[in-house]
Amino acid sequence: MTTLILDGKHISQGMEKDMALRVQQLKERSGRTPILATLLVGNDPASATYVRMKGEACKRIGMQSLPIHLPENTSTQSLLKAIEDLNTNKDVQGILLQHPVPPHIDERACFDAIAVTKDVDGVGCPGFGRMSMGLPAFGSATPQGIMHLLAAYALPLRGLHAVVVGRSPILGRPMAMMLLAADCTVTICHSRTTSLEQHLRSADLIVGAVGKPRFIQSDWIPDKAIVIDAGYHPGGIGDIDLEPLKQRVRAYTPVPGGVGPMTIATLMLQTLTAAEQNIV
Ligand code: NAP
Repeated sequence: MTTLILDGKHISQGMEKDMALRVQQLKERSGRTPILATLLVGNDPASATYVRMKGEACKRIGMQSLPIHLPENTSTQSLLKAIEDLNTNKDVQGILLQHPVPPHIDERACFDAIAVTKDVDGVGCPGFGRMSMGLPAFGSATPQGIMHLLAAYALPLRGLHAVVVGRSPILGRPMAMMLLAADCTVTICHSRTTSLEQHLRSADLIVGAVGKPRFIQSDWIPDKAIVIDAGYHPGGIGDIDLEPLKQRVRAYTPVPGGVGPMTIATLMLQTLTAAEQNIV
């Protein structure tokens, strides 16, 4: 059996090419350029890097970003006001609030204040609820990017036992709902799960979204599993001990170059889709 490398970098580059064409067509048709507003609160260097990368991706495909940087001591009220201004700004098609915001801010209230039509990062409860019910909505960018990656390699998902390790609002939880919608039988594991190893040993598809470097051991993972490592840590290390798996599993995402580029490409795709829906 040949192990398939789920090359998110390659797939995202193909997506960008298609999107550049669509942006061009939209501009020709309407005379307008889609705009993604990016809200960064505080001085976390990793968050600043992610926001910059998203701005660069906009540029590559011909869209604009509108970067808004608010100080560390921003209150929930003033962040809500900034979001409301963007909700009503007709030039802005998508809004990204970079996670995490400083701890004194009610992040959930701010995510949920983003208009569902502009929630292109898929972080709000309204969008999550609609997605979970199979209604049109923008999915949370990282799990939606993983779904795009699985689709790009035409991996059949129906009937697989998928084990998602992590239940965060932006990753594990929506991931589980998307895999359920794809007819997987889904087990969600978290920090209170007993016998994680036992769940993983019966998995056909594993998503590691724990936030702990190489936490998921390779010998917990069966041969022929599809292995998705959403984790990213300094030094290019994921949440799964991938190295020993590279010869024996059915497919895996490399770190880096697997899930990360798909997250950004999905954010771009959802912003473009919002623009196509809203610019007439
Ligand atoms: P998070 O909010 O910290 O959530 C971590 C999840 O892991 C929680 O649900 C937690 O369970 C669970 N967990 C912690 N310890 C565990 C254990 N011992 N056994 C089983 N589950 C355990 O993290 P996140 O935002 O979802 O991110 C997860 C990873 O993905 C991180 O490495 C992050 O860097 C990466 N990430 C990558 C991208 C990308 O674009 N590539 C985007 C977002 C995140 P509880 O709910 O019980 O606490």
